[in-house]
Amino acid sequence: MEQRDAVTETLYKEMGISPRVWAFGRQIEEELKERFAAIDETVEYNQLKVVHAMQESRVEAACFAATSGYGYNDLGREKLEAVYAAAFHAEAALVRPQITCGTHALAVALSGNLRPGDELLSPVGKPYDTLEEVIGIRPSNGSLAEYGVTYRQADLLPDGSFDYPAIEKALNERTRMVTIQRSKGYQTRPTLSVKRIGELIAFIKKQKPDVICMVDNCYGEFVERLEPTDVGADLCVGSLIKNPGGGLAPVGGYIVGKEKYVENAAYRLTSPGLGKEVGASLGVMTSFYQGLFLAPSVTGGALKGAVFAANIYERLGFSVIPDGRESRHDIIQAVTFGKPEGVIAFCQGIQAAAPVDSYVTPEPWAMPGYDSDVIMAAGAFVQGSSIELSADGPMKPPYAVYFQGGLTWQHAKFGILMSLQKLLEAGLVTL
Ligand SMILES: *Cc1c(COP(=O)(O)O)cnc(C)c1O
Repeated sequence: MEQRDAVTETLYKEMGISPRVWAFGRQIEEELKERFAAIDETVEYNQLKVVHAMQESRVEAACFAATSGYGYNDLGREKLEAVYAAAFHAEAALVRPQITCGTHALAVALSGNLRPGDELLSPVGKPYDTLEEVIGIRPSNGSLAEYGVTYRQADLLPDGSFDYPAIEKALNERTRMVTIQRSKGYQTRPTLSVKRIGELIAFIKKQKPDVICMVDNCYGEFVERLEPTDVGADLCVGSLIKNPGGGLAPVGGYIVGKEKYVENAAYRLTSPGLGKEVGASLGVMTSFYQGLFLAPSVTGGALKGAVFAANIYERLGFSVIPDGRESRHDIIQAVTFGKPEGVIAFCQGIQAAAPVDSYVTPEPWAMPGYDSDVIMAAGAFVQGSSIELSADGPMKPPYAVYFQGGLTWQHAKFGILMSLQKLLEAGLVTL
C-alpha cells in the first residue's frame, strides 16, 4: 500500500502536483469515504435501471446501424427512445442528434406545446440565461412572446422555498405550461431535489390539473435515484453533452414524458405531420446507447469531484455552494474566491489537467451574451461538453468559479488538485 502510494505520488509530482497539495487532497479524500460510498450506491441503482431499460427494449446489434436520408423505420432510433422512456419511467421520448443543445431541446418542448394566447409560468424564479430569449423575457427574433405566448414568474422566497401564495395567484385560465429548472445554473439559489420538484408539481396540479409541468433537467440526470418524471413531471428535458450522454454522445438532446406532449415536441422539431417518423441517425447511435449506459457512473464520478472540490476549498476558508456536507441534486460546484486572481488560477489549473489542450493558458475574454469578461477552462473531446471537466467564471464580484464534470473521478481529482496547485503557486492559499 505504502509503496503503491509512493509511485502514484511520484507521478503526480512529475505532472506538477507538489507533495503538499497531494497530501492535503489525500486527507480530504480520506474524510469523504462515507459520502463516496453513498454516491456509489446511487450509481449502482441507476446502472441497473439503465441496463433494465435496455433489456426490456431488447436492444440488439442492429440498433447501432447508421441510417441516412429521411431515416424512416430507424430501428436504433426507435429503440433508443423506448430505452429513454423506460429509464425515466415515462410514456415516450424524443432523443435526437438533430436537437443541437439543451436550449434547443427546451425551446422545442415549449414551442411544440404552447399556442397563441397561452401563458407559461416559472414558479422558481428566473430561468437559465438562454431561455430568456426563447421565452422573450429579453426580446428576440422568433421568441414565444412573438407568437403571442405570455410569461409569468413567481420568485422563490429569500430562504429558497417556494412562494405558494404567489404561485397560486400567478396560475390563471391561460396558464398552459409550467417550467421548473432543477439546477441552480449560475444563480445562488439551491438546486431543487426531485422530492421538492414533486411537491411543487403536486401543488400546481391541485390548482390546475390540466397544466403541463416541464422540468429543465440539465445537470440533474442520475444524481439521485428518482427523476422528475417519477414525481409527476409531464415533460423532462436535457442535453446529451451533459450527464445522460455519458461523455460519449457527440451532440444531441432529449425530451421524455407523456406521449402526447412528446409528440407535440416532435412535430415542432421536424414538421407537422412527420413528427417522430423522420430523422436519420447518421451513425451516432452507438455513442448514444453506450453513453447512456455509462452515464450513471460518469455522473457519479463528476459528483465525487464536486464534493471533493467543495471540501477542499471550504477547508481553506472559501465560500462554496453547495457546502461540503449538503446533499446534492446536480453536478455543479461554485467556489467564491473574492478576487479575480483566484478565478484565473483555478481555471488555469483545470485547463492544465485536461487530456486535450492542456498546454493552452486560458485568459479572461469578452464573450457574446455576457456583461463582463469571462474565463473558461475546457479541454474536452466533445466541444463545449460540460460533463467533461470544465470550469468558468465571470470577471466580476463576487469572483466565483463554476466547476463541473470529469468523465472519471480520478480525472476530476487531478483537475482539482491542479487548481489548488495553481492557487498555491500564485500565493493565494497557504497549506
Ligand atoms: C446547460 C443548461 C441549459 C442549456 O443548455 P445548452 O446545451 O447550453 O444550450 C439550460 N438549463 C440549464 C439548467 C443548464 O444547465
